[in-house]
Amino acid sequence: MHVLVVGGAGYIGSHMVKLLVQRGFEVTVLDNLSTGHRDSVREARFVLGDLFERDTLEDLCRKTCFDGVMHFASYIQVGESVREPAKYYRNNVFKTQNLLDVMVARRVPCFIFSSTAAIFGEPVRIPIGEDHPKQPINPYGRGKWMVEQMLEDYDTAYGLKSICLRYFNAAGADPEGELGERHNPETHLIPLILQAANGRRSHITVFGNDYDTPDGTCIRDYIHVNDLCEAHLLALQRLWDGGGSSAYNLGNGNGFSVREVIETARTVTGRDIPVQYGERRPGDPARLVADSQRVRVELGWKPRYADLATIIAHAWQWETRS
Ligand code: UDP
Repeated sequence: MHVLVVGGAGYIGSHMVKLLVQRGFEVTVLDNLSTGHRDSVREARFVLGDLFERDTLEDLCRKTCFDGVMHFASYIQVGESVREPAKYYRNNVFKTQNLLDVMVARRVPCFIFSSTAAIFGEPVRIPIGEDHPKQPINPYGRGKWMVEQMLEDYDTAYGLKSICLRYFNAAGADPEGELGERHNPETHLIPLILQAANGRRSHITVFGNDYDTPDGTCIRDYIHVNDLCEAHLLALQRLWDGGGSSAYNLGNGNGFSVREVIETARTVTGRDIPVQYGERRPGDPARLVADSQRVRVELGWKPRYADLATIIAHAWQWETRS
């Protein structure tokens, strides 16, 4: 089976490529390297290209018969999406439609889409199940929800099968230490905490400690990047086995506050981590915790690295690589 991984040079995509190669799949990566890193793709065919270039896509799908596509190429910063919505709708929606149109034209049958908990907006119930109302509150979340709806219509009209995986907080790194998070600028909590632990930052700023949570800081559901990737593989296999289009929420189902994450990082690293308290970050809900029952029951997904200390330990191994 040959899988096209769009955005395979990025954080989650590169872990996915490694897993697919390890499991014996043929893999082609398409990435424009706008945020990804060429050296994160070690053992797969690499094609430099952008989803905007329809000719590149058509050429690629004409020359290679793909059995499935995984799509990780997306901008991910909520704040930036508010300031620059055009960039987000162009990249995350319009370019995705290009990809889908070529898939339909070339009869590539199965699509796994990287969606997000941001499609739910401000939660009205916790934990968040698949049926929770979709009321995204920023262009990032709205764009992802648009694609989810587009996918329903593409299945009905063109028979394109898809599974949307709505990530909660992806974190951690390759347990073998070869891959990890390399965003520039880094905005995610765990790598920022670890940079502070490693002396690369003077401190970590906690965005708000007046939330309605036990310690006043935001609660999130952190899921190991490898566990996310295993879910992608199960999802693709499900479609190959004849399963219908679907969507799953992907988290461990455990919430940790920002302060708990910092405390765990102190224990894991044995380092002092200076903390400052700052303003709330606009658009941050107090709690986001997944109800992950459906993916467990229907796809047989079982997280291997559900423990927060393990997630942080793998990220620390990456942060302190030589
Ligand atoms: N956060 C923080 N300081 C930072 C970065 C993040 O306090 O420098 C908080 C943020 O407000 C949120 C949590 O950490 O409550 C996780 O944020 P992140 O950006 O990692 O992921 P998101 O939840 O936005 O997907």
